[in-house]
Amino acid sequence: MARYVGPVCKLCRREGMKLYLKGERCYSEKCAYTRRPYPPGQHGQGRIKLSEYAVRLREKQKVRRVYGVLERQFHGYFQEASRRKGRTGEEMLALLERRLDNAIYRLGLTASRSEARQLVRHGHVLVNGKRLDIPSYVVRVGDKLELEEKARKFKLVAAAIAGAEKRPPTSWLDADRANFTGTVKSGPVREDLNEPEIREQLVVEYYSR
Ligand code: SF4
Repeated sequence: MARYVGPVCKLCRREGMKLYLKGERCYSEKCAYTRRPYPPGQHGQGRIKLSEYAVRLREKQKVRRVYGVLERQFHGYFQEASRRKGRTGEEMLALLERRLDNAIYRLGLTASRSEARQLVRHGHVLVNGKRLDIPSYVVRVGDKLELEEKARKFKLVAAAIAGAEKRPPTSWLDADRANFTGTVKSGPVREDLNEPEIREQLVVEYYSR
């Protein structure tokens, strides 16, 4: 599945908040949003009143960008969520959250979802002992996730583990970073998914218009 490969700090500045797309840099003074907290471009500092449509569009774009998913696949998550019994917005977030690349990031084994995605794509992640190179794989309760031997020596992994404490804990995963592993102990909890703040109801309204 394709992915966005353009400049990512612009995305945070467009959405008006930190989306934590660049790992360590996001927590440092070098963060572009900290230095220039206004939208990119010539008119970025002008006053803009967003229409109702634009507010919903921005929320949808924000969630999509946080999880690094392009439109077609993101819409697929929405459609799948709307077929489920629970609240569509929460079901959609739960599906996104259970992506394999996101789970590796949440375990603190990488500093960003894009790094996690790369590790998965390059075959460095094992699920229940088997190599699995599909970032969109949806993890299940009981799945054991681990990095294979070679990846355990990667500098990016060591740096991520060293900085993992800065990030909010995730209650649905049991992390054992000393052994580069983790287990899925339950479904994602909505309360865990607040950094950045997400208003999933606006996404539902966007697609229901
Ligand atoms: Fe860039 Fe991270 Fe700051 Fe976003 S939060 S602007 S990705 S450094």
